[in-house]
Amino acid sequence: MTTAYIGIGSNLGDRLQNCRKALKLLEQRGVRIRVKNVSGAYETKPWGPETADQPDFINMAAAVETDIGPRALLEILLRIENEMGRVRTKKWGPRTIDLDILLYGDEVVDLQGGSRLPALKVPHPLMHKREFVLLPLAEIAPGAVHPVLKKTVKQLLEELATQT
Ligand code: ATP
Ligand code: CA
Ligand code: CA
Repeated sequence: MTTAYIGIGSNLGDRLQNCRKALKLLEQRGVRIRVKNVSGAYETKPWGPETADQPDFINMAAAVETDIGPRALLEILLRIENEMGRVRTKKWGPRTIDLDILLYGDEVVDLQGGSRLPALKVPHPLMHKREFVLLPLAEIAPGAVHPVLKKTVKQLLEELATQT
């Protein structure tokens, strides 16, 4: 069994309900994924270049225990996004639900996407630069270690806070 951390975000519709629904759908995938812990909900400003005219987000983080691999887990997350009616317009545009794999145990994954397979990078390449990711994650997993940067989530959050 591996503990993975999922980042959850929504800025369209009933944002909190969307995040909760995604977790419920994830739990309902069966015994091979158990949601172990869920952070509180954090209301955050849109991040990155596409912030104009975008509503604020609700962000959460969840710990899941699973024996399915990172790629299969990603496919499940993408399927849940689709089932919940996520439409991809522009990169970093508004969305009903966004589910990212932040950490998957201490594994480092870098898979190129293909014609049918989605790309996957774990740890999520921008997680350490985003307060909206680290804040909820630090609530449930302050001591989780980023396997590339060799720092805990708590350390990453402190570093980000002193940088800005
Ligand atoms: P960001 O990744 O910067 O948070 P985003 O979440 O808005 O941006 P999406 O449009 O949701 O980006 O995802 C695009 C693709 O990113 C997905 O189809 C997936 O193949 C790929 N991807 C790569 N690494 C990950 C990861 N760790 N978690 C989720 N998706 C990932
Ligand atoms: Ca994301
Ligand atoms: Ca995503």
